[in-house]
Amino acid sequence: MSVGVDHLALDEIKKRGIRVGYTPDVLTDATAELAVSLLLTTCRRLPEAIEEVKNGGWTAWKPLWMCGHGLTQSTVGIIGLGRIGQAIARRLKPFGVQRFLYSGRQPRPQEAAEFQAEFVPTSYLAAESDFIVVSCSLTPATKGLCNKDFFQRMKNTAVLVNISRGDVVNQDDLYQALASGQIAAAGLDVTTPEPLPTNHPLLTLKNCVILPHIGSATHGTRNTMSLLASNNLLAGLRGEPMPSELKL
Ligand code: NDP
Repeated sequence: MSVGVDHLALDEIKKRGIRVGYTPDVLTDATAELAVSLLLTTCRRLPEAIEEVKNGGWTAWKPLWMCGHGLTQSTVGIIGLGRIGQAIARRLKPFGVQRFLYSGRQPRPQEAAEFQAEFVPTSYLAAESDFIVVSCSLTPATKGLCNKDFFQRMKNTAVLVNISRGDVVNQDDLYQALASGQIAAAGLDVTTPEPLPTNHPLLTLKNCVILPHIGSATHGTRNTMSLLASNNLLAGLRGEPMPSELKL
């Protein structure tokens, strides 16, 4: 009951001739909506601001108090312009984003045209973006993609959002980048491990917002995913084509 298949031993599954049903498309909108929520929550420092109201930190008006970074005139870099990456770009465009960059295995000119998005190397995307959204699948090539070298290239005003899988980000390197001010903030819907231990160092940082993997968690989407997963299973048991079968 997921679109990601990184938790499956695909070589072994293929070798044994096991069929796999999964749930693409039906969770795209909900996950993109959550990605945008997380991005805004992180860049406008909402958890910190809410806490200040509760703890009495909200006093006289101060011009630079609780300032964050806004999307207007910004450059957004999307790592993996797939179904969810495109849905995120589509939602971010009306916020006044000036330029979209994306990286992946190969250019996707048809999909990119809607956003005039430029296909660029990951290192260029890291250096040029004000906001980076990670929406690729987890593969051997993307594991640890956001590491020390990546963070060192980023602007120190830039914000990273990961809704893909925890392992795409090297969390030790992210901690250093956030704690030292190398980058401004990070929003993570996915971590390694899940659940993240409550004493994890990332949870001590004000500029790191962590959610418990709730990308697709709307009532409607989880119902639709359940139905699709059930229909995949029933079709598999009957030896019929599944509504959504993974091509191995
Ligand atoms: P898609 O298959 O449509 O998109 C995957 C994207 O990953 C493609 O654009 C692909 O690029 C890109 N990619 C693959 N390899 C690389 C690479 N080496 N470098 C950069 N990009 C790469 O999948 P979806 O958009 O439907 O889902 C994407 C992922 O989101 C899932 O695999 C899952 O891990 C995660 N997810 C998380 C959820 C959550 O709750 N947080 C919910 C749903 C999904 P290319 O165009 O070059 O092939």
